[in-house]
Amino acid sequence: MAFNPKTTHHALSLIEGMAPVITCELYANIIDKNGWRTRFAPSPTGFLHIGHAYAAYVVWQIAGENPDKFLLRIDDLDYTRCSDKYINQLKSDLSRLDISWTSQETYQSKRLRRYSQALQTLQEADLIYPCYLSRMEISDFLSPPSIEQISQPCTRGALSSKEILKRQQRGIKPALRLDMSKAIQHVGEVGWTRLDGIVIRAEPAKFGDIILGRRDITACYHLSVVLDDADTNIEVVTRGEDLRSSTDIHCLLQKLLGLPSPIYFHHPVILGEDGKKLSKRHKSPSLHNLRDTILTLKNILRKELVINF
Ligand code: GLU
Repeated sequence: MAFNPKTTHHALSLIEGMAPVITCELYANIIDKNGWRTRFAPSPTGFLHIGHAYAAYVVWQIAGENPDKFLLRIDDLDYTRCSDKYINQLKSDLSRLDISWTSQETYQSKRLRRYSQALQTLQEADLIYPCYLSRMEISDFLSPPSIEQISQPCTRGALSSKEILKRQQRGIKPALRLDMSKAIQHVGEVGWTRLDGIVIRAEPAKFGDIILGRRDITACYHLSVVLDDADTNIEVVTRGEDLRSSTDIHCLLQKLLGLPSPIYFHHPVILGEDGKKLSKRHKSPSLHNLRDTILTLKNILRKELVINF
């Protein structure tokens, strides 16, 4: 794709309009800690754009610009959409932004056994159950008003044991759903702590019986991230506001699995003109196309993210 300075200029101006996220208080706290152990976890399903640069730079600030506190995790669970070319390019993009990370990056695709073990633990406690329904059957299963809702249905007991056996014999693999009401009964009330110390009461019930184990891929996003964050001793989960609601599910899973709870810092996400999170469909220029403007981008990120004091 040809390098289009007009689009680049526009993309850079999106960052310039954002309020600084690193306040004086937060900055002092980061310096005091010599950076928080945190992570940047891109999914390598495309090239990084300005929105990713912004997110990575927030993580870099929370880590106190300390490479020993910045973990790079490659969220490549969905192997059908991930590619090595994106992984190589994203590493080089981060380097061009002068971001560096701990010697070893982690790959979700190499941790499938860990995810399976956790699923087994949950299954042994009868907190998850197999669901053999097809996508079509699930949507029939939901009454029309709830199709719009985020809540996943409870499908336990939806099929007779004869029908389940028939599907198993046809080689159909089940998805694994969390029994939400049982899980909540098991752990009681849950909440998560923000970096400014405020505790947020979580409301996982509204998500219903979410899928934790996928038919095609061992684990889904929610399960893999809580295990990864715990196993890599992440102190602060730094990520976009678009993932804030998932935190209600994550703190529930941490309690169920006996994992430590990190602190959370959700940063604003860059929006396109349509008010939606910047993504491929906005045709924002990829970072690797920003040859001459990378310096400008770095300056803008530093100037706009960190409060001037
Ligand atoms: N891999 C996720 C993404 O690219 C981020 C995961 C997380 O921060 O929890 O949106």
